Amino acid sequence: MIAHFERPLSALELPGKVPLGTFPTPAHRLDALCTPQTAVYVKRDDRSGELYGGNKVRKLEPLLFDARARGKTRLLTVGAAGSHHVLATATYGRAAGFEVAAVLVPQPGSPHVVNNLRASLGRGLEPICARGSHEVPLQVLAHMTPQTAFVSLGGSSVLGTLGYVHAAFELRAQIEAGELPEPDVIVTALGSGGTVAGLAVGLEVAGLGARIVAVAVSSPVFVLEALMARLVRRTARRVGASPARALARVRVEGGFLGEGYGYATAEGDRATARAAELGLTLDPTYTAKAFAAALAEVARLEAASEPRVLLYWHTLSSAPMAPLLATAPAELEGELRDLVR
Ligand SMILES: *Cc1c(COP(=O)(O)O)cnc(C)c1O
Repeated sequence: MIAHFERPLSALELPGKVPLGTFPTPAHRLDALCTPQTAVYVKRDDRSGELYGGNKVRKLEPLLFDARARGKTRLLTVGAAGSHHVLATATYGRAAGFEVAAVLVPQPGSPHVVNNLRASLGRGLEPICARGSHEVPLQVLAHMTPQTAFVSLGGSSVLGTLGYVHAAFELRAQIEAGELPEPDVIVTALGSGGTVAGLAVGLEVAGLGARIVAVAVSSPVFVLEALMARLVRRTARRVGASPARALARVRVEGGFLGEGYGYATAEGDRATARAAELGLTLDPTYTAKAFAAALAEVARLEAASEPRVLLYWHTLSSAPMAPLLATAPAELEGELRDLVR
């Protein structure tokens, strides 16, 4: 039952948005995964945008609005070379009329990662190569100008996180419209933390009861957890929600990480094959690990004494890459190549 919360969305101090995405994203049942005790649903944030989908779109809407409102004409962000965040920022930043630069750190190469980097360059990204995270702060300082808005790693500032506070209200409207039952558990990936933090605060404010299994995709896990917790506290304060209650919903799951950020795992590969049968495409870095954890959670819930509803929140773009690659360089050269070896 949805608690009728005292605070409608309109009462929250929410920022404006540059409308980039297609919302609400669909939510539907995954029949093949349902068990006697557990109904399994998916929230399709893979379809959050025409040009490019995934979870970065919701964060960029308030971030680009804010940059524009402050009269900025250029965005500078940070991320792994070939990251979804950098590609999303290049795609939507350029479409909204900004110049876009990013400090890029190396990550293990894969065809997916190489294509993301090529597509980012094709969208007009100004790449700034760093040899490791230790070089990021100096490179950022060196490339800031008065016209530049800095966009945090993964878009996970308080402002970007508010995009996922909104998403919880979108979910509530879908529950109220009968598109899905109220979930008991939401499973999603935990990277820079904005998705999980925004949902944790948003569920709280929207009066939904779900807890969140946040599947860590990089190490050390305790640092990831601390950064997410900080984001929950700052975002909760911003919208007047209880930080403690929002945080109490989240359990960080560190058991699906494998060797670390960007490294595939056998469990993730199996989850990817299973998801493909259901029409969902996963990536090795984030969603393979999150979906593997969701499958494990479904199995665990079988021991529960009453029926449960699990919602897997899908965060990887499923927009076709061909249009984004049409303007991309055929090959990566020099320093850029070395970033994704
Ligand atoms: C960035 C990303 C995440 C992690 O989201 P955060 O808000 O950074 O924690 C999960 N899945 C995919 C596909 C991503 O690109």
